[in-house]
Amino acid sequence: MHRFSDKVVFISGGAKGQGAVEAKMFGSENAKVIIGDILDDSGKALEKELNSLGINCTYLHLDVTNESEWEAAYAQALSKYSGLDILINNAGIVSRASITETSLDEWEKVLSVNATGSFLGTKLGVPIMKDLGGGSIVNISSTGGLVSSPTLGAAYASSKAAMHLLTKTTALQYANDNIRCNSVHPGPIDTDMLSEITNNSDLLKKYQEKIPLGRLGRPEEVAHAVLFLASDEASFITGTELIIDGGMLAQ
Ligand code: NAP
Repeated sequence: MHRFSDKVVFISGGAKGQGAVEAKMFGSENAKVIIGDILDDSGKALEKELNSLGINCTYLHLDVTNESEWEAAYAQALSKYSGLDILINNAGIVSRASITETSLDEWEKVLSVNATGSFLGTKLGVPIMKDLGGGSIVNISSTGGLVSSPTLGAAYASSKAAMHLLTKTTALQYANDNIRCNSVHPGPIDTDMLSEITNNSDLLKKYQEKIPLGRLGRPEEVAHAVLFLASDEASFITGTELIIDGGMLAQ
């Protein structure tokens, strides 16, 4: 018996990076996996790759900022798999600009994808989970949603902080409906989102020096924590945060 047999998992922004690794790990534990992203070519290629491994995976186009696309994605998920047990609000974009360098457009875009996208996924997902008897939501925030630094992007930090409290509010408002909600807060993880840093050896060295474990995290290291929080092993854990940062915030 696998951990996620008969469970339906929806991962936003799962066409690549951490979400794609989570899709594969959930699928390997027998979950039915739905990936929603704007990267249709990568999403379809991932669907094909996972299907070839025997994983029941479907890719759907989803811009998380668009409420009607969420409605359509959930309708498709329900018609194909008749369920929604786990939602991973993972889609995200980064901005590294300071407050005065951030245009209003950039501010709104980052808040819209990271914070509003997670809000919409939750707002439309909760009623489905309620009808089905419960569920588990994991929001992918960031260490930048807990503490700041002079070089952290203003819009990014604010959007990830919004996800932190969205998590606790969701946990409290729907605990009686058997819906749990937790957030994970990764430090620097080696995905495309960090390519500006990984492509610059001096910058990478400076980053690594700030991390007690002396290296960037791997997507698998976040995915293991996400699967744990999503699973029944975490059945008494709700409204909390899990930091995955190689010790950065312990300093
Ligand atoms: P990634 O490889 O860039 O993956 C993010 C995915 O979200 C991409 O496929 C991206 O597409 C997609 N996306 C962007 N806007 C979207 C939208 N409007 N609707 C649907 N999908 C959208 O980066 P990652 O590292 O895996 O990031 C996953 C999550 O972890 C993000 O929420 C990120 O903020 C968070 N995180 C990352 C790090 C890190 O160091 N990597 C640290 C802390 C937290 P595009 O490529 O076209 O934008």
